[in-house]
Amino acid sequence: MYLREKVTPIVCDGNPKSRRTRQKRDTADDLKDGVNDWFTDRPIKWMLYNTIVGFDKSTMENIIANALNKWTAVSSLSFEKAAPNTNRDDVNLKIRVSGPSETDEDFPAQTDGSWIAANASWGPGISQIWVPVEKKIYSAHVKFNNTSTGPNNWNVHQIHNVFLHEVGHALKLGHTLNDDAIMARLMAGGGGNQDLQLRNEDIARIQRYYKPFLF
Ligand SMILES: [Zn+2]
Repeated sequence: MYLREKVTPIVCDGNPKSRRTRQKRDTADDLKDGVNDWFTDRPIKWMLYNTIVGFDKSTMENIIANALNKWTAVSSLSFEKAAPNTNRDDVNLKIRVSGPSETDEDFPAQTDGSWIAANASWGPGISQIWVPVEKKIYSAHVKFNNTSTGPNNWNVHQIHNVFLHEVGHALKLGHTLNDDAIMARLMAGGGGNQDLQLRNEDIARIQRYYKPFLF
């Protein structure tokens, strides 16, 4: 995801799963949804491993939970913050911050006055182990850019809006050409004036895969 300096639209980087594709930047590819679905019979366990400079862990966790609740409210998905000692394989959604004192090849400096703010998996990766019975391991990531090539003025709304978009990818949604949607590459007002809401199109798209339970 990109943040631009002046008008503060948000544009997301290409699919980070395929680095070679991203080099060529086939934008049509970014409109495709991911391959794998998440489970809906139990919560997706998430963990925040480190934080953006200036934000403590509980503040960032609250922002993340707030964004996750927006997806939960319109789908059959649910989320749970993993306990600190949770086995790595049982943490499904891994949320990390790159930086501040390192570089990251996922986040090259941009030449047009924008920053790549974050990236994410396109849906979960699923692998299986067989000890002692079949167990599927679901794993996805969201990574914020707090390196020197990233935004230098993260605020709570930016973190929320960027995460809301990126976790849409982690849930398997690709981009849309509808500029009004959260899953648009360009997100009006995404720079941090207010927390954005999911739009009708985002809701319709997530419900294609994770229909809300009927009560
Ligand atoms: Zn994106």
